[in-house]
Amino acid sequence: MQKFFIQTFGCQMNVYDGWRIATMLEHHGMVRTDDISDADIIILNTCAVRAKATDKVFSALGRIRRAKKPSALFGIVGCVARESGADAFRRIPDLNFVLGPQSYHKLPEILKNPDTKLLNIDLGGLEKFDELPQMERSPRVAYIPIQEGCNHCCTYCIVPYTRGREISRAYDDVIRDTIHAAKTGAIEICFLGQNVNGYKYTDDKGHTYRLSDLIRETAKIPEIMRIRFTSSYPTEMTDDLIKMFAIEPKLLPFLNMPIQSGSKNILTKMNRPYTLELYCDIINKLKTARPEIQISSDFIVGFPGETDEDFAETMRIAQKIKYINSYSFKYSPRPHTGAALMPNQVPENIKAARLAELDSYLNELQRDFNESCIDKTLSCLLEGPDKTGKHLIYRTQFMQQCIVENAESAPELANILITAANKASLRGKIIS
Ligand code: SF4
Repeated sequence: MQKFFIQTFGCQMNVYDGWRIATMLEHHGMVRTDDISDADIIILNTCAVRAKATDKVFSALGRIRRAKKPSALFGIVGCVARESGADAFRRIPDLNFVLGPQSYHKLPEILKNPDTKLLNIDLGGLEKFDELPQMERSPRVAYIPIQEGCNHCCTYCIVPYTRGREISRAYDDVIRDTIHAAKTGAIEICFLGQNVNGYKYTDDKGHTYRLSDLIRETAKIPEIMRIRFTSSYPTEMTDDLIKMFAIEPKLLPFLNMPIQSGSKNILTKMNRPYTLELYCDIINKLKTARPEIQISSDFIVGFPGETDEDFAETMRIAQKIKYINSYSFKYSPRPHTGAALMPNQVPENIKAARLAELDSYLNELQRDFNESCIDKTLSCLLEGPDKTGKHLIYRTQFMQQCIVENAESAPELANILITAANKASLRGKIIS
């Protein structure tokens, strides 16, 4: 029996793509292996969002080349494949395939013609969703993509180039996939999209569906107990969606809504044309709808032209909103983006110092929030045992990791009394 090895880098969209690739290869009679030297086909499912991520892929390819069996096929799929195109074959001449994020369903072609080189980085839109087989077992948390690409064109972001213009999937297709996930083991649904709250699909009868419609319909599925979505763009947070936080208890009280910078000047240069007033107003509306809601953000520090005062404004917005579960990164120039060509690129040492300051503050906020949960009972979903097997790891409704003693009869969805907390996680006791 032939074996495949797959390694996924990057965002949840890539994790989802990785599952679909694995399912597709299993349908072709292959089995998964974690041992590169034993694999007949090796796939790196890649992310190009930061320069470091792309470099990581090419250094991994160099290692794979030395470790694989001579007959094994290897290649890249995903955003680095789209970014690099035919140049990937120049960098690694014995590479067998390079397939963009919307053409990885063509992978079986290389199994049929192993002596050819397969290059396909076309933006095929939604075709892959129709071509790929459904997963027979869904994980407890099922990620359901509801759109591809993005129209926002932030000046630092390579996604509009790698994944193309934004296309929303048909409403019926998304609901079909959601029901399938529920019937095959999912308890939580996470709708995915680069601009997920911009979801908009108009059917043949002229009826337009939004993300709020998907949430409402999904909440009717008895097996589904938790619903969330990521990643949201501030100006797409419409009132119908905010209202869902008030009326739909299955929708988790947690939202990732990246602000990226607290400086109006930098937001303009990033081509993210919202004001801080509008952003804060949306958060106020969300808190009115669901008082316990917690907000997470992504931040970029050291964007071209960012001054000390611009960065201070980012620190101020973090203090004001009190984000949890956030991510911060140093700006890195990407090909095919406007910001890469901007003057006043910020020196690495300044970027590093700003990142350290912001990270340290975000960690403090996370620790404060985690500690505020002590003595409260949180509803948590089981992820599985830890490496030792002595503990179980759960995920709270705010996406914190919660660790409890392993017990045979532990429920998949548990009410857990939080007994201790640190920056990274919570400890607790299952009470029901
Ligand atoms: S909204 Fe997100 S995915 Fe779209 S261009 Fe901006 S950063 Fe990239």
